[in-house]
Amino acid sequence: MSWLGFVLTFPALESAGFGFFWVAMGLFVGSFLNVCIHRFPVEGASVWSPSRSHCPGCDRQLGWRENLPVLSWLMQRGRCLGCAAPIHWRYPVVELIGAAVFYLSWRAAASQGWSFLVLDSIVLAALVVATFVDFERYEIPDQVSIGGMWAAPIVSFLLPALHSSGLVAVALAPGGAVDGVASLSECLAGMALGGGVLYGLGWIGKRASGADAMGFGDVKLMAAGGGLVGVLGTFQALQVAVFAGSLVGVLNILRWYLVVRARQRRRRLPNRGRPQALRTARVLGRYLPFGPYLALGIGIVLLDWKDVIDLLPFGLG
Ligand SMILES: [Zn+2]
Repeated sequence: MSWLGFVLTFPALESAGFGFFWVAMGLFVGSFLNVCIHRFPVEGASVWSPSRSHCPGCDRQLGWRENLPVLSWLMQRGRCLGCAAPIHWRYPVVELIGAAVFYLSWRAAASQGWSFLVLDSIVLAALVVATFVDFERYEIPDQVSIGGMWAAPIVSFLLPALHSSGLVAVALAPGGAVDGVASLSECLAGMALGGGVLYGLGWIGKRASGADAMGFGDVKLMAAGGGLVGVLGTFQALQVAVFAGSLVGVLNILRWYLVVRARQRRRRLPNRGRPQALRTARVLGRYLPFGPYLALGIGIVLLDWKDVIDLLPFGLG
């Protein structure tokens, strides 16, 4: 039996043993996601070369013992073995998140077979990269957004089961069985809807406030996500994103308000400082990336996370 044949017939995707293996894979994929988060936003940088990681402090090439996900960071107490430069907590955290999204994909998709397990794992991993880059730099890497806009139609055509219950796909399906063309149509409708809604929101926001309310990266990301989750899934993902984004936005303004108030108190300013503090907090708290919440919505819908989807006011499920 060939290696590929072995992989394709590998028996028990749903077994605990395979789940354990897949989560361990997720840890190593998490290490690779760190490289992507670090290098994607840098013009001209490649994630493949240099292939070995270096310490930015002493430029020493790291050995395999220093590249073990999470473990190396813990054993080295978050410092480089050569120069003792601190290693950012983001590295072990992203590795753990890699393991977590591989676990969630396994829970959600293992029963549907290899193609769904791999698809969900890759898409969630890409969303993790988009999330961290957007938090850090207020931009979404084209490798994820444009890459996703290319991948979504191809995957939809090759894997019609992805849109087996899609509104457009079912309407176009010959005899009720969703084929590649029906699935591709659902994908394109989802892309147009996801990208279109965000483009429209951005246009309205710019009219209303005069500033760029929505980055074009968000439009591209939601177009890609819409192509993967379909028309209905796009509605659901947008609701999750708007709800989570608004909640964090309000908490962020509250946080700045408390910071400003604490500063005023130290300077012993009287209570009329409150409206001033609120105004300052609203300005400081205004700039929040939206990509992470779009990623959250797309991920939840892709995993078909019913506990969350059932809570949506317009679940349409
Ligand atoms: Zn070093």
